[in-house]
Amino acid sequence: MADNTKHYDVVVIGAGPAGYISAIRLAQLGFKTACIEKWINPEGQQVLGGTCLNVGCIPSKALLASSEEFENISTHASDHGITVKGASFDLKTMLARKDGIVSKMTKGIEFLFKKNKIDWLKGEGRFVSAQTDKVLLEVQGASGVDSVSAGQVVIATGSKARHIPSIPVDNKLICDNEGALTFDKVPVKLGVIGAGVIGLELGSVWRRLGSTVHVLEASPQFLAACDESVSKEAFKLFTQQGLKIEMGIRINEVKTSSKGVTVAYKTAEGSDTEVQFDRLIVSVGRVPNTENLNLEAVGLSVNEQGFIPVNDYCTTSNPRIFAIGDVVRGPMLAHKGEDEGVMVAERIAGQATHIDYNCIPWVIYTMPEIAWVGQTEQQLKVEGRAYKAGQFPFMANGRALGMGTPEGFVKILADAKTDELLGVHIVSAAASDLISEAAVAMEFKASAEDIARVCHPHPSLSEVMREAALAVDKRALNM
Ligand code: FAD
Ligand code: NAD
Repeated sequence: MADNTKHYDVVVIGAGPAGYISAIRLAQLGFKTACIEKWINPEGQQVLGGTCLNVGCIPSKALLASSEEFENISTHASDHGITVKGASFDLKTMLARKDGIVSKMTKGIEFLFKKNKIDWLKGEGRFVSAQTDKVLLEVQGASGVDSVSAGQVVIATGSKARHIPSIPVDNKLICDNEGALTFDKVPVKLGVIGAGVIGLELGSVWRRLGSTVHVLEASPQFLAACDESVSKEAFKLFTQQGLKIEMGIRINEVKTSSKGVTVAYKTAEGSDTEVQFDRLIVSVGRVPNTENLNLEAVGLSVNEQGFIPVNDYCTTSNPRIFAIGDVVRGPMLAHKGEDEGVMVAERIAGQATHIDYNCIPWVIYTMPEIAWVGQTEQQLKVEGRAYKAGQFPFMANGRALGMGTPEGFVKILADAKTDELLGVHIVSAAASDLISEAAVAMEFKASAEDIARVCHPHPSLSEVMREAALAVDKRALNM
């Protein structure tokens, strides 16, 4: 019988930001590359881009932008002396705009695959066996099963929303990120379980569009991964905006009825209470996608949290197989996965690329945004590292006042002796862009004084970064 197995230098499983970027870099480096991807969108089309492009970063940021535009026009325009009477929005158009952006982006990856001569193998990939010189895989597509072999394999299968067994997500009344990005009408009362990144971003979207939003969070500490001064400031600002955030709760029961969703929970003080919502978002973290991969066939398994164990270079215990992105340890962030995709491709090509995981920036796209890179003050205290801190508020920055965004600050943490930057924490408009300066500085092992000596444009929000760096040495100029 003829062997129809197609052979590639490298096969990538998954075309989210980790996988598609890895495939492109592999192709640039001259490898014959294929990428297996199974995603089918609600219109029944097979698409590339994974969680990030289809139901994550891109659609959420589109809705954040639309809802912010509406809030600015309807509530903040008058601060500028602009009168807008009866501002309203059409949700259908807003959602269609978001879908249009998603479609443009996913088609863009299809174009990049063609340009780089990457074969898109449509369907679900699974391992068959590992041989001495290659790895065998199968792709279950619409028209049957195809066999593929590869010298190296990159697993980039990503993650999905974590569901709690007692809270049945139907993506109609009780939604994870997928349903919460496509509500057909603005819920009057919206419940959110989990005050993490998704809860705050999507909670903000629907609050701006008119929902009363009540966020229920199990942890007693708000945004525990952030520097404490940032979480304190963010809690104050989000609460002022109208998000009701209740900390330290325990969910007892979630029930649906013709009236909506009822959530019964124990408050932090221990009393049992019940709230009725029109819709509920469940955003309690994400879990790696590894089921059906048949990892055992190539000698791999997952750890207790479900991640595929890898070393600092994303190599699994099988030297021909790498794993990157949300399916491995580290922050579940698109840019972290992309960097791992590039690193793995370059290491397969014999280069010495590595990632400094301490320099990966984090952003929460609320308004103001929250962004940070490096260590928090509480981490430095636990480590016993001697540090200096400098902080400067946007309230004292002319550009921020002109823009009508005086909220927040930049806080810089530097080594007490060497002045090396250890962490930079921002709450402000455009924090997602401002943090890049800090990430670059930290990659170059810069000191706070280095930032303080660099000429920053005036007037600009970036001047606050420089002032915070000066404040580390107690010599801020405009304070
Ligand atoms: P994914 O994007 O999950 O892609 C994995 C792909 O693998 C999928 O397309 C899947 O279909 C495919 N796949 C899985 N198994 C198989 C198989 N066996 N065969 C074939 N294909 C398979 N991160 C940020 O950095 N910034 C943000 O602003 C941001 N916003 C977010 C907003 C939301 C609402 C959500 C849910 C996430 C957000 N994230 C954000 C996180 C970000 O989306 C993820 O970190 C990122 O998508 C992970 O990339 P990945 O390539 O590892 O996995
Ligand atoms: P998260 O880890 O950010 O937050 C989950 C929250 O749910 C936590 O605060 C946790 O304490 C709480 N929680 C867990 N179980 C609970 C329960 N039973 N009852 C009440 N609260 C509970 O997770 P997420 O918001 O679902 O987001 C998932 C991942 O997606 C994040 O890790 C993040 O990396 C990524 N993401 C990133 C961005 C961004 O970069 N801007 C945006 C969205 C999502």
